[in-house]
Amino acid sequence: MKKNDALDNAGEQTKAIHAGEYPDPVTNASSPNLVMSTTFVTSADAGFSVEGMREDDPFLYSRWGNPTVHQLEEKLSVLEEAETAIAFASGMGAITALLLHQLKGGDHAIVSDVAYAALSEMTNEMIPQLDIEITKVDTSDITAIEHAVKPNTRLIYIETPCNPLLRLTDIAAVAKIARRAKAKLAVDSTFTTPIATKPLALGADFVIHSLTKYLGGHGDALGGVILGRTEDLALLRKKTAIRLGGVLSPFNAWLILRGLATYPIRMRAHEENALKIAQYLEKHPAVKRVIYPGLPSHPQHELAKRQMKNFSGMITFQVEDGKKTATLFAKDLKIIHYAVSLGHHRSLIFYLNSDDLLKTSFKFTTQKQFDSWNDFAGKGIFRFSVGLEDADDIIADLGRVLDKI
Ligand SMILES: *Cc1c(COP(=O)(O)O)cnc(C)c1O
Repeated sequence: MKKNDALDNAGEQTKAIHAGEYPDPVTNASSPNLVMSTTFVTSADAGFSVEGMREDDPFLYSRWGNPTVHQLEEKLSVLEEAETAIAFASGMGAITALLLHQLKGGDHAIVSDVAYAALSEMTNEMIPQLDIEITKVDTSDITAIEHAVKPNTRLIYIETPCNPLLRLTDIAAVAKIARRAKAKLAVDSTFTTPIATKPLALGADFVIHSLTKYLGGHGDALGGVILGRTEDLALLRKKTAIRLGGVLSPFNAWLILRGLATYPIRMRAHEENALKIAQYLEKHPAVKRVIYPGLPSHPQHELAKRQMKNFSGMITFQVEDGKKTATLFAKDLKIIHYAVSLGHHRSLIFYLNSDDLLKTSFKFTTQKQFDSWNDFAGKGIFRFSVGLEDADDIIADLGRVLDKI
């Protein structure tokens, strides 16, 4: 399909609705069709190996490419202002593909010391088993990144704001270090979304999203994506997406396309609610500390203002006895779900205990790393994904528990 050039100078919400979507040429259907077919009737000269596949070849087999998945990839590329996008079955599918493609035996990579737990655990164990050296660094500390660079550093991997601390990393500053080191910079931008931050424009080479979170937005479809330059991603598509096979189901792509159409509106509503709730929590006597990038009390509020045009809907907070309060939340909340995941229209809350996480997922080596963790998380935090319910109802639900402790 030809790109719709009316979108070139359009606003974010117009792009979110129209990019990647066209009236169906056969039926004139206005909404995207869902194409579940695994195979496509082809011509006698079609190749059988993905080796010779070109990006604009006709569809052959849905693991190689699928019309509904392509529509989603095109919409995401327009929104992130990226040349191209590859969708995966989950955020972790995207992250694994990127690491396996960018790194080989003998290489070195720098990875955020606090990041999505599955990535942290994979880079503690599985990736080093492939003779790839990983250094875990607090990437909010630019000097620490500079010191960690080695001659064989090929990739710097950051997450901002990071899960679960909501600690930020200055993308433009890290991009400069990466360029000097001739390493690629990958940014997991799941917590911000492109309406807030466009890492590619700040010098990153790859952007990753878990589509399961804000971009899909409704808690009903796992998905992930890598965005970047065509020259970097064409080979990645063949080697990892198509050969390793962790591709996105067309049904999930269709659900995510539908969620994505309203994401700028949703993000503004998430932010508005989150700010109200962060302010409520900050005043509540049972709450010891609130971390929200949109609050002046966030230790990196200045960077947040510079780097995030929308502060998103993620809050963390500490109370005196986190474990006991978690039990009360799980039992007494009537609107907010006590559950993992985030970025859904529904509010979700979950308790993360520091001692447990520092054993299973995050392995620090310096006192400075422990100090930074303690500064943001203390003994443990509630990770609160503020949903789109009416703010007063969310506050009343929290009050059911917090007013009693
Ligand atoms: C959830 C999440 C992931 C993993 O995504 P899945 O879709 O669950 O595989 C990666 N990064 C961040 C920041 C996340 O929040």
